[in-house]
Amino acid sequence: MQPRALWLKDPLAIQADGAERGIVVQDGRIVELVGAGRVPAGTDVTTFDAGRHVVLPGLINTHHHFYQTLTRALPAALDRELFDWLTALYPVWARITPEALELAVTVAMAELLVSGCTTTTDHHYVFPPGLEQAIDIEVAVARRLGIRAVLTRGSMNLSRRDGGLPPDSVVQDEDQILADSERLIARHHDAGVGAMVQIALAPCSPFSVTTSLMRATAALAERLSVRLHTHLGETEDENRYCVEVHGRRPLDYLAECGWLNDRVWLAHGIHFTPDEMARLARASMAISHCACSNQTLASGTCPVCDLEQAGVDVGLGVDGSASNDASNLMQEVRAAFLLQRGRYGVARVSHRDALRWATRGSAACIGRPELGEIAVGRMADLALFRLDELRFSGHGDPLAALVLCGAHRADRVMVQGRWVVEDGAVPGLDVGELMRRHAAAALALAG
Ligand SMILES: [Zn+2]
Repeated sequence: MQPRALWLKDPLAIQADGAERGIVVQDGRIVELVGAGRVPAGTDVTTFDAGRHVVLPGLINTHHHFYQTLTRALPAALDRELFDWLTALYPVWARITPEALELAVTVAMAELLVSGCTTTTDHHYVFPPGLEQAIDIEVAVARRLGIRAVLTRGSMNLSRRDGGLPPDSVVQDEDQILADSERLIARHHDAGVGAMVQIALAPCSPFSVTTSLMRATAALAERLSVRLHTHLGETEDENRYCVEVHGRRPLDYLAECGWLNDRVWLAHGIHFTPDEMARLARASMAISHCACSNQTLASGTCPVCDLEQAGVDVGLGVDGSASNDASNLMQEVRAAFLLQRGRYGVARVSHRDALRWATRGSAACIGRPELGEIAVGRMADLALFRLDELRFSGHGDPLAALVLCGAHRADRVMVQGRWVVEDGAVPGLDVGELMRRHAAAALALAG
């Protein structure tokens, strides 16, 4: 049992003002920041000595495809740009079984947790026959591991036969997609503050979904009050496809589909013009920046500072494990920091910005103001890192050291006031056995 109130006492450093002596959590929330020279106001308080820990708000992952942990560094997909990469992988993904997916999701969520991630999204859009319960499987694993999740019901209904990119074997028809979306929301979506599981809707991309499904999905999201997500602005190929097939650029196409509104967060957002950035801001849309994936697939560099200057919130996503090929959100913070600093220079990008993107920025992407910040009333979602590894030896500023020296593993992680990572591991998870079964599933899939 967790104690009623817990004081995380005297942290080495903490990403919050006025919390020099730590914070108090109770009933899943942060209830007090303890300033210098003070002690907690309450008396019924248990203490956790955080003297060796740097405390961050739990990191929030705003874009991923868990199933892709089964196809990391697949030889057939190496050294390809997005469209060729997808074409190589679709037939492999069409063979994923429920058992393999459960292993993939467990691996991805465990990787995320030990990297300091407390809330993750996923974008699952591959539903070959037999894998209709994919999102239900994801919900079950999230509940088992204790990670907060916003799981998007993805979709593809435009196959090669109709001018799309994916093969027939991985697409579904519109009625089936919409009915299942409604089923999942009714069954799993919690609209309340502090929800552990939410469902959002996420047609895959303009080149794998019909205009009719884009529109119907936006209408369904509006009616059932859930968020909307898709890939957009990822490549120049996508721009060309949209102009050729729809006669307009991707954002104009999205507008035509009823998607320019504050329910929407987009993965990537690389290839927008200044005018398009202003339109995104006016519609209160947000962008998930996926620095590792964008570099691996040579898609381009997301103009994060320009987007923020225009008024667009930016969060971070590790993206699928076949284009990253990791699910480590702390490493993604460093990757985003390096990429954006290289683009904009020292005056515009600091390690503090990168941490802000992964926390408050990501919380804005998923419309969850109760997350992403260490402040009274926010959820008690925290990531605690130690700096006693070789890579940190000789460090100065502890918060800067996390990003600059390349922190990659949290020592402890708390979600909703409950420890879900202890001593750098997920309690009760047999990682050796998981890896053995997951590797066997990946091998079977590749064969
Ligand atoms: Zn993606």
